[in-house]
Amino acid sequence: MSNKRALFSIGLVAFALLSVATSEAEAGKHGKTAAAGATEPAAKPRPALAPDPPAEETPRVIPPVSIVVDGAQVRCREHAAQPFLIRGNWFKKGTDSNKALAEAIRYRTEKYGYFQGYGNPKDNAHPPRFYSETVKFMGLPVTVNQKVALALRCVEAALNATPAKDEYHPHSAGGIRFANTYRGSEISNHVYGIALDIEPDRNTCCGCVAPWTEHPLCQRRVTSIYDRMAMPKSWVAIFERFGFYWLGHDVLQDTMHFEFLGDPEKILDRSATVAPATSAGPASSAAPANPFPALVPPGPPAARPVVPGAPLGLVNLLDAGVR
Ligand SMILES: [Zn+2]
Repeated sequence: MSNKRALFSIGLVAFALLSVATSEAEAGKHGKTAAAGATEPAAKPRPALAPDPPAEETPRVIPPVSIVVDGAQVRCREHAAQPFLIRGNWFKKGTDSNKALAEAIRYRTEKYGYFQGYGNPKDNAHPPRFYSETVKFMGLPVTVNQKVALALRCVEAALNATPAKDEYHPHSAGGIRFANTYRGSEISNHVYGIALDIEPDRNTCCGCVAPWTEHPLCQRRVTSIYDRMAMPKSWVAIFERFGFYWLGHDVLQDTMHFEFLGDPEKILDRSATVAPATSAGPASSAAPANPFPALVPPGPPAARPVVPGAPLGLVNLLDAGVR
């Protein structure tokens, strides 16, 4: 076993412990990071995890939706997240966690790009940035992997085809990051351009680190995780129909975060071309010309300190090490 492999294994064990202990250990570590150079206040009790009921007891009917690709209307295909990519499954009893994480990294490298320090560059010569693209999702610019952009357009088409479109109007969203904001041996799906955060200031992450735990919605006793977020259940349900996994289900209860864990080859049913596209097609959101706007400036992740008491926002999200 090489030193690198040994370090990887040690890191994974630490990560697994972190996972089963909710994020107590992580909270302590990041609290220290956030308060570097200052006297640390007494730790506040962690918010209790909220119950995670089914997204919608009676799944609503979504009419078949399609998007315009290369001038043709192509049918979107509903499909689920792949279980081997869901982080919570890597630490289940009887699972070889090292192997599971390594396999998930290999798959993401092959499909979405090689991120230095994780996986093998032989699996993909390009970094995730190479495959990134800026699109508009529900009117908000977001930079993601090109294939995931297709999945997002399917989600948007489905939202627009149901009353869900009128139930929520987010004002911010974030996609790809060029530094790994996850602490430990894991790597954030944001790095691969396959994760999306919607309105971090209104959709909580009560299992994350301060200041996220201090959000008023995290202090409230609730009967459902959906009571700790602005986004409605209907949106979660529709994302999940098109290959996205919602981290509200994870111990972090990261309700702003979706990650595409479906099969990128299954996003569209290319055998089901609907009709010639018109220029005013309902889902014809062509990508803008600039593929690399600096939604998240590249650079060292520790450059901007978290300011205790500052309003929750993307800056704090990036530096707190949440996914
Ligand atoms: Zn996220």
